[in-house]
Amino acid sequence: MIIIMNPSTPSAEIERLSAEMCRPNITPEVCTGQHKIVIGLVGDTSEIDPCQIQNLSPFIEKVIRVKQPFKRASLEFRYGEHSQIVVQTPNGPVTFGQNHPIVIAAGPCAVENEEMIVETAHLVKAAGAQFLRGGAYKPRTSPYAFQGHGESALGLLAKAREATGLGVITEIMDAADLEKIVEVADVIQIGARNMQNFSLLKKVGATGKAVLLKRGLSATIEDWLMSAEYILAAGNPNVILCERGIRTFDRQYTRNTLDISAIPVLRTLTHLPIMIDPSHATGKSEFVQPMAMASIAAGADSLMIEVHPNPAKALSDGPQSLTPEKFEKLMQEMAPLGQFFGRWSKNNSAAATPKFAGRIPATANV
Ligand code: PEP
Ligand code: MN
Repeated sequence: MIIIMNPSTPSAEIERLSAEMCRPNITPEVCTGQHKIVIGLVGDTSEIDPCQIQNLSPFIEKVIRVKQPFKRASLEFRYGEHSQIVVQTPNGPVTFGQNHPIVIAAGPCAVENEEMIVETAHLVKAAGAQFLRGGAYKPRTSPYAFQGHGESALGLLAKAREATGLGVITEIMDAADLEKIVEVADVIQIGARNMQNFSLLKKVGATGKAVLLKRGLSATIEDWLMSAEYILAAGNPNVILCERGIRTFDRQYTRNTLDISAIPVLRTLTHLPIMIDPSHATGKSEFVQPMAMASIAAGADSLMIEVHPNPAKALSDGPQSLTPEKFEKLMQEMAPLGQFFGRWSKNNSAAATPKFAGRIPATANV
């Protein structure tokens, strides 16, 4: 249930009303949006009569029951106002959300060595990315496949962050690594395979760090939003949803099927920002560009693109990784489309003037 307050309501009145609504099984949550103040009542509100609440304050405009099972994640809970999530990076704040420039996160599937990650960070930054995305702990189908360098890779991500000022996004697989990851990551990724690892969601939610929540391989949109709800319920409002392709019957020509329709569907259901990952969705580098363009056209707020200095030698996900040159070209191709939709910033317009054509890290793991 949500209580919509007049925007001019004094804060003492908001506090008084919140305290009055507090019950053992109901937690009031105040959200001050750009145009309205909403008090959300989370818990069992079945016994509460909206008409009675209406009489509790002259500043109350409306009382509405939230029908969706995902309460805090629902658009209704914010009375139709989409969230913006601001992440502080060494280069300054970056905002994820509708009506903001498209945020670009790029980098290799896995951190392989220092030169490779630092050089790749410089290259994706020069092309206009705001975040370096690289894995230290990798969820691999085979236990014999490269599992990531773990803690030492976190140290390398920290070096790349320091050298470039890019924000860092990296995946957590085990709650035991949380403290170490929190030290380095500006955004913590929860991968597709852990989308319903509820104890991990609660622990990551409790950190307050921005969370990138990938859609599970076979998760419905409702499953996905219920998982986001776990993080929000842990007190962390900074959740970004990432569509990365779902399992369908064809695995021969694409790795997964990118659910582009998730973008407009999510817009009607949730206030949370949306990222698209065309790399894992297609599994093939040649399809990343058209799917990235389609994602922008459909209204994505952010893109995650895998970039590797030498994809043929990558320790994981080489076939879907772009070379830095191809990534730069993609950024140039995306710029006019992003501008057309009014969603391209000065930061990512760096791509308009190529700065590193032909420059590949000399000592990369190739
Ligand atoms: C990744 O982002 O590198 C990854 C493993 O993705 P997903 O969880 O979407 O498979
Ligand atoms: Mn990958």
